[in-house]
Amino acid sequence: MEPAKVTPMMQQYLQIKERYRDAILFFRLGDFYEMFFEDAHTAAKILDIALTSRNKNEESSVPLCGVPYHSAEPYIQKLLDAGHKVAVCEQMEDPATAKGVVKRDVVRVITPGTVTATEALDARGNNFLAAVCKAGSAFGLAFTDITTGEFRCTVLADESALFDELGRAQPAELLLSDRDRQWRERLAREFPAAHFTTVSDATFNADAEAKLTGDVAGMDEAVRAASAILHYLETHMADSLKVLRELEPYQPSHYLVLDESTRINLELTANYRGDRKGSLLHILDFTSTPMGARRLRQWLLYPLTDEKPIRERHEAVQELVENFALRHEIKGSLTRIQDLERLVGRVVAGTALPKDLVAIKETLGAVDQLREQLADVGGALLLRLRASLVDLREVAELIARAIVDEPPLAIKDGGFIRGGFDSELDEVRDLRAHAKEWIRQFEAGERRRTGISSLKVRYNRVFGYYIEVTNSHLKSVPNDYLRKQTLANGERFITPELKEYEARVLNSESLIEKIEHVLLARVREQVAVQYAALKAIGNALATLDALVSLAEVAEAHHFSRPQIDTDVSLSIREGRHPVVEAALGRGAFVPNDCVIDPETQQIVLLTGPNMAGKSTYMRQVALIVILTQMGSFVPCAEARIGVVDRIFTRIGATDSLARGESTFMVEMKETANVLHHATCRSLILLDEVGRGTSTFDGISIAWAVAEALHDAPGRPRTLFATHYHELTDLAFTRERIKNFHFAVKEWRGDIIFLRNLVPGAASHSYGIHVARLAGMPAEVVSRSKEILAQLESGQSGGRLHLTAELQAPTLQPVQMGLFGAAETRLREELSRLDPSRITPIEALNMLYRLSEEAKK
Ligand code: ATP
Repeated sequence: MEPAKVTPMMQQYLQIKERYRDAILFFRLGDFYEMFFEDAHTAAKILDIALTSRNKNEESSVPLCGVPYHSAEPYIQKLLDAGHKVAVCEQMEDPATAKGVVKRDVVRVITPGTVTATEALDARGNNFLAAVCKAGSAFGLAFTDITTGEFRCTVLADESALFDELGRAQPAELLLSDRDRQWRERLAREFPAAHFTTVSDATFNADAEAKLTGDVAGMDEAVRAASAILHYLETHMADSLKVLRELEPYQPSHYLVLDESTRINLELTANYRGDRKGSLLHILDFTSTPMGARRLRQWLLYPLTDEKPIRERHEAVQELVENFALRHEIKGSLTRIQDLERLVGRVVAGTALPKDLVAIKETLGAVDQLREQLADVGGALLLRLRASLVDLREVAELIARAIVDEPPLAIKDGGFIRGGFDSELDEVRDLRAHAKEWIRQFEAGERRRTGISSLKVRYNRVFGYYIEVTNSHLKSVPNDYLRKQTLANGERFITPELKEYEARVLNSESLIEKIEHVLLARVREQVAVQYAALKAIGNALATLDALVSLAEVAEAHHFSRPQIDTDVSLSIREGRHPVVEAALGRGAFVPNDCVIDPETQQIVLLTGPNMAGKSTYMRQVALIVILTQMGSFVPCAEARIGVVDRIFTRIGATDSLARGESTFMVEMKETANVLHHATCRSLILLDEVGRGTSTFDGISIAWAVAEALHDAPGRPRTLFATHYHELTDLAFTRERIKNFHFAVKEWRGDIIFLRNLVPGAASHSYGIHVARLAGMPAEVVSRSKEILAQLESGQSGGRLHLTAELQAPTLQPVQMGLFGAAETRLREELSRLDPSRITPIEALNMLYRLSEEAKK
């Protein structure tokens, strides 16, 4: 565009756009947000709206598209989903009174981590904005949810701990220093769903410590990450800073570590397809409020490791299970409670609407009830919760006096301040009512005066009030009527008197609107004074709701109270898998015991046919531990759990092809991770380690892993499921490895799964039986049986000789000794060798290595 043709408003636009080049600029023009130039092209495509142009017929035509300002949120969300930021530019003065171009400025920049629109957020989950500060091999992590005011930080010792923590928090947006550009690529591969934003390294300073409360001593990296968040919000969403007052540091060791693959494998918050249904959370969630749902989810992802608070939660759940009347009453009150955390966040940020204030008032009413209902509770946690439910009667009364019971959804139209609250407002409203009444009477009077019974006084936004007369009566129109507009079937007139009263109505209306807005802001401020108490109430309500939910699930699914202690063993009597049981129906699930004791039975080695229930069993043990440590009752007759610090899982094939790793690579990485990090408090679930490679490699790895875990000084508690029957021999050489298997019955060539766990090794794999059950073609099944028979008969010969008419490829025998495996490897390596292509030095090195290998 040529500069000469730029209008003053366009100049203003271009100046503002210059400052927000990386965002789509929503430029407020009357009732619309307009987008111009490149932004218009991009947005029109994503939002599927018409692309038009300003000054259409001129050379300087500007591409343009727009969305109505009062329904902009879904459009903003669509742009965010498409990976864009949105800068919202508002009119900073009243266009009616402004001289020259209306002043405009950007009031917020919306990014995935700074969304506050209720419709865009999952009420039952948090929306976190996080920042990571890299300092050598350690990391500072801070994350905040600006809608609830939650602001937490911690220091993590290494990259894998950081990834685990980020995986739990699942931030919508992650801030990184511009110094860490290369590292960003790596993070983006790990967390493809997160949005990454690079910010200046200078913002990773110590500002947060001075600006917020919270004891952050010794957490420098975490404070730097928190400071980056504060700076980011300052420039993007300054109002949200009012909500962030306290920085809550935490130690990762206070929580049971659940790494990403463990969370996925155990289907804690989503099933393997990513749906909430079929997850443990889905079974557990009987909450009545979004706050309770968020709290329960947080408890599930962050089970505790300190037995005292765990026991307190168990005690509270027990009280609520046993006292049905109390639980029923509390539940009744909770259903009247709204999302106080987010409501209060909006009050403090100055965006709360009248309906939000009414929701706070109603919630406080229910809180009064809850305080009474909790009057006789006994447990420490419930007593503390009751103490947090302070009496904020004055806040509820203020809202009741100020805001009508059912305020309009849009505040633009006013009418939300209750009559009698403010005398000035009442007076202006009287004036308006008086003027309106005058106009009504004026109509009746004019009908009489002119004799035109169809004469009407009407109003529209363009002409204001006018008198409408149809064509057939035009001859009776008096001389003092001034013609304003001619229509097909009549004419519109005004009179000076009518205009005078119109001015009174309109003036009083705009005055009413102004006064109502001022009063709303004042009420918000008065409510915001009680921010800390309201936040504490919200927090207590979330916990109470989560506890009631756990009590309900305990009753509905027949859970019992576990014992927690600091021992390193665990024992479960008649344990069940809560999700599988729910799917099968009560009574169809066969309960099983589990004892793991580092002194006598450190490793439970599970064998048994496919489909027997090995994976289900291992998962159920892990879930019972997690449930215990999150404070829940558990699906079993009896459980005693020695606190677990970390659950490691190597279950199933979590392919990570997107990260460039094969299934086997992932399996080996996870297994290596277990061996490096397991402690005496860890619980390890290993399912079919080594199955993703050749049989010999697989058996060797599985064997060595089991030995290493047995011999590890920490003696971590381990459940080890395998199809390699050879491994059951480990029980002869390693005293704390004990064999168990799932019983089956053979009947007329079929197998019946009994699902109960019994001591000792399984006699067969029954893989071919299961293949048949799965519908494998009969000829493949019978061919498999033939091959199996030959494999089993040729155990010692090293190689299998298949009968001539089968013409099968040569196979390796499954049952060959481990020594044979090494021999085969050497032979394989030698046969791959091409002596003509290696240097003498390489040849010498190789010879040396092979001879060492052969000596082993
Ligand atoms: P594979 O070795 O093939 O992986 P598996 O032994 O690990 O099999 P699971 O996947 O645990 O077997 O269980 C198979 C199915 O058996 C489950 O989906 C479930 O429906 C059922 N099942 C498992 N355990 C029980 C049980 N204790 N009671 C009733 N049904 C069970």
